[in-house]
Amino acid sequence: MILSITPNPSVDISYRLASFRLNTVNRCSHVHKSAGGKGLNVTRVIHLAGRKVCATGFIGGANGQFIKEELDRLQIRHQFVEVDGNTRNCIAILHDEGMQTEILEEGPRLTKRDEENFLSQYCKLLDSASVVTASGSLPKGLDATFYTKLITIAKEKGKIFILDTSGNPLKEGIKASPFLIKPNLQELSGLAGKKLQTMDEVKKAVLSLARWNIPCIVVSLGKDGALGYFGGKFYQIIPPKIQAVNPVGSGDSMVAGMAIALSEGLPDQLVLVYGCAFGTLNAIEEKTGFIRRELLNEFIGKTEVIPI
Ligand code: ATP
Repeated sequence: MILSITPNPSVDISYRLASFRLNTVNRCSHVHKSAGGKGLNVTRVIHLAGRKVCATGFIGGANGQFIKEELDRLQIRHQFVEVDGNTRNCIAILHDEGMQTEILEEGPRLTKRDEENFLSQYCKLLDSASVVTASGSLPKGLDATFYTKLITIAKEKGKIFILDTSGNPLKEGIKASPFLIKPNLQELSGLAGKKLQTMDEVKKAVLSLARWNIPCIVVSLGKDGALGYFGGKFYQIIPPKIQAVNPVGSGDSMVAGMAIALSEGLPDQLVLVYGCAFGTLNAIEEKTGFIRRELLNEFIGKTEVIPI
């Protein structure tokens, strides 16, 4: 089983408007609500690919209830820690031919007690997991070393840990040597402390991260695929040419693909291929964190990996 962690999930609400007007009433007839947050995208994609996954994290209030009901409806196993306060809403307004305006709530503030509850539940869930994924930002009340603790515990139990976050939680997390990190160019630039412009600069930044004993570093590059560093070697991964519909969540889908490949003990190059193929499969769909299982083999077959 793959254990997916979403510390700060959300109810994602999208409003589609022909035009969005400020300082007046906008009425909307196209509303879509779903269980969101990067880790829940990872969860859904693993499930859609037909693999076993259990979702965990923190939820609370009526929005927490909505998320649990959504996961039940999709028949996805979940075990969240219940907290005081309401899980956040994240609102995306899709308007005026391709524009997207977002309003993201911060979510509830967690207590030391919430963290302790999570850690004891996490230790139990780890016993039946082979791979752990941890995605996204941390809620208020948890400090930046939260993922660092989770990685250390997972490694003591011999589990593979994939970390996909940014900023300080990523800076702190790498110190515990997760098995895999998947920064995009912006996140890698944040770690390097400067905007990375050339492939040489990207490779140098990857090598300096690898010094933390991180066996696999995958830099996702959107339509250009990814640069992979695995087992001390660099690879270029080239996805199939597609007409992108909605690439949001492609990084999460990529994490799902790599988690599946690692849980099945596939060779290094195939882990990278699965990642890109899954990311690309998400990009051709309108829904975020969604893939069509029947296209998997075709996309895996059409994704190239070249040692460089
Ligand atoms: P998000 O934060 O929205 O999940 P990300 O920035 O972490 O995304 P990306 O680099 O955009 O991740 O995409 C991840 C992977 O998905 C890429 O490495 C690539 O394989 C695939 N992908 C994304 N966009 C496209 C595209 N337009 N065409 C082909 N493949 C794509």
